[in-house]
Amino acid sequence: MNRRDFLTRTSTVALAASLAPALSQLSAATAISAPTAGHTYPFAVTPLPYDYAALEPHIDAATMKLHHDKHHAAYVTNLNAALKDHPTLHGLTIEQLLRQFDSVPAAIQPAVRNHGGGHINHEFFWQIMRPVGTEGSGGKPGEKLAAAIIADFGSLEKLQTEFNAASLKVFGSGWAFLVRDAATGKLKITTKPNQDSDLFQTNQTCLLACDVWEHAYYLNYQNRRADYLKAWWNVVAWDIASRRFVA
Ligand code: MN
Repeated sequence: MNRRDFLTRTSTVALAASLAPALSQLSAATAISAPTAGHTYPFAVTPLPYDYAALEPHIDAATMKLHHDKHHAAYVTNLNAALKDHPTLHGLTIEQLLRQFDSVPAAIQPAVRNHGGGHINHEFFWQIMRPVGTEGSGGKPGEKLAAAIIADFGSLEKLQTEFNAASLKVFGSGWAFLVRDAATGKLKITTKPNQDSDLFQTNQTCLLACDVWEHAYYLNYQNRRADYLKAWWNVVAWDIASRRFVA
């Protein structure tokens, strides 16, 4: 995709962001405060807030294009197909659907769990990464988040070591998250299998999410999940995680 095509297909927010680096920070932060706010059936994949090659060399353009345009899009297509004949659910956001999972008809619960989870996880994943060299990316957590990381893990390096170790232990496909427990204020690393998510619960705030499905890294890293995880930290949008921490 050339730049003109990319700009044409992006939202107003992303377009403005691509033209004004300072505004980019603001827009991305605004967007992330509610990853899919206002989005109801039919759900849609949000365009990437950067170009496919923007995360290279850490995540290659071919992986990003396949991952966003095919894998994520398939979750959305399948979620919409499952919801098509259930108009009473059409006014609900993906967060609401997942929070009210017990009231979702049993026949479509697996689809809502897997494809709905896939949608919310990926919407957040694209936002919590940032091209290297832009503000926030590959940098350090903000002051308050940094202090919490030191209090709960000892250091940023120890958090990363623990996060990567937890991610490596995910058998098969899944996700790793850094969340802040609302009751205790403590940070914790969690993992979930498949497309289960830590993004919709009201008792915690998700700060980071890392996709450890093979489709997230296989083209460039083959079976080397550890190398992908090590590289991933270079493109983490710490400024967004920090804003979510203090929000
Ligand atoms: Mn994925």
